[in-house]
Amino acid sequence: MGHTALILGDQLSHRNPALEGADRVLLIESRAALGRLRYHRQRRHLVLSAMRHFAAELRVRDDHEVVERRGVARMADVLGDYAEVRCAEPNSAPSRRALERLGARFVRSSQFLVDPDDFADWAAGRRRVVMEDFYRAQRKRLGVLIGEDGEPEGGRWNFDRDNRRPPRAGLTAPAPWLPAEDDVDAEVRLDLDAMGLPEWGRDAPRAWPATGSEARTALQDFVTHRLAGFGPWQDAMVAGEPWLFHSRLSSSLNLWLLGPGEVVAAVQDAYRAGDVPLQSAEGFVRQLIGWREYVWGMYWLRAGEWRGQNALDAREPLPAAYWGQSPGLDWNCLRSTVDGVAERAYAHHIERLMVLGNIALLAGVRPWEMVEWFQAAFIDGAEWVMAPNTAGMALHADGGAMMTKPYAGGGNYIDRMSDLCAGCRYSPRSRTGPDACPVTALYWDFIARHEQRWAGNPRMALPLRGLQRMDPAELAAVRERAARARAQLAGA
Ligand code: SF4
Repeated sequence: MGHTALILGDQLSHRNPALEGADRVLLIESRAALGRLRYHRQRRHLVLSAMRHFAAELRVRDDHEVVERRGVARMADVLGDYAEVRCAEPNSAPSRRALERLGARFVRSSQFLVDPDDFADWAAGRRRVVMEDFYRAQRKRLGVLIGEDGEPEGGRWNFDRDNRRPPRAGLTAPAPWLPAEDDVDAEVRLDLDAMGLPEWGRDAPRAWPATGSEARTALQDFVTHRLAGFGPWQDAMVAGEPWLFHSRLSSSLNLWLLGPGEVVAAVQDAYRAGDVPLQSAEGFVRQLIGWREYVWGMYWLRAGEWRGQNALDAREPLPAAYWGQSPGLDWNCLRSTVDGVAERAYAHHIERLMVLGNIALLAGVRPWEMVEWFQAAFIDGAEWVMAPNTAGMALHADGGAMMTKPYAGGGNYIDRMSDLCAGCRYSPRSRTGPDACPVTALYWDFIARHEQRWAGNPRMALPLRGLQRMDPAELAAVRERAARARAQLAGA
């Protein structure tokens, strides 16, 4: 007698180890899970569409009995109907705890390149668990972009200096391939309407892969048309260019429609064929086997316990502006980025870090509220990725375990890396007066608020010197502007 394989909504791979030897495959759509947060409409649609497409594929290609339980209140209400339930290790700590309580047995997952136990072994005894060290170790272990002499291709591990170009005028990228909707999507749309769960964001034709086959088409499209531009322009922000040269593969990876190994192989093959420059291949591989796997390891290094992290004692509630509920907000950077997320459930990594995350850091927003907002609002939201990236990297709530200095920037940074300030009524270089940029004012308020904390950090010496040179009357005016900026964010 075999077992029942429980397939979770973010483990939709035919390589899911729970499928091995299973008699029956179970996919549960629970209202409790779908309604846990005020999710973006397109995110709920994608997850349900991908689950239903996966169930249909299983029926065609395997011997299993496939059971879809739709519209159940909670997973607990149906799991007891099945004996010997096995599941690949869930990707978040709350899911693991919940399924453990319900008696599911876990099998080791192969969704990532680095097992959390191996990450913990690598991290043990290190003074700092730095991404760059981890990344180099993984490049060597996996033999990615490593020459025959065992050294990194091109003689360098890091092409960041070549890869942080500000956008040039008129920068555009080839439009990405988009999937076509089918009957499954039509049914999902009707079911979501009928469920009536509180949601956010606009509905739109599905723009994200829902099957492995669609995800591989999207991968090929990226490698062929946009990877070459990814390296130099990965940090640029351009109005009206939401995708630029980004891969749009994170939702496919996070749902396990694609494995990271096949993406790395496609990128490496394109480089070896001479189709893309090394700086772009390296820049993308760094995101995947550097940042993505590092964040996965960091999440589990704390056993998934990120909720209480708040090293900077940030106490502001999540501003209404992040839900688009601050109608008078005239900061072009934040307003256009939030509008883009409402429209597409997406913003690229620098918009996430240096606009959405940065402004929340400067304004002192409570970290877990930001983590949950990112989880709810983004097409690729998942606790394991949003907790370390938001609480650790963007909001410095881990006290610097991940980053030696906070990722804080004023209007000048946004102006250098985007064309957003050109279309804004404020001036990024002004910190007082009627044109004072609210982000710049918040930046100096943030440096002043935590002056004592930064005193011993050599990487913060430059902003601290800037603060100390500031006239007390000017600092008071800057802080008053920052207080008004916080009120604007809250919709006051
Ligand atoms: Fe944002 Fe300031 Fe630039 Fe306006 S001037 S877009 S508020 S950074």
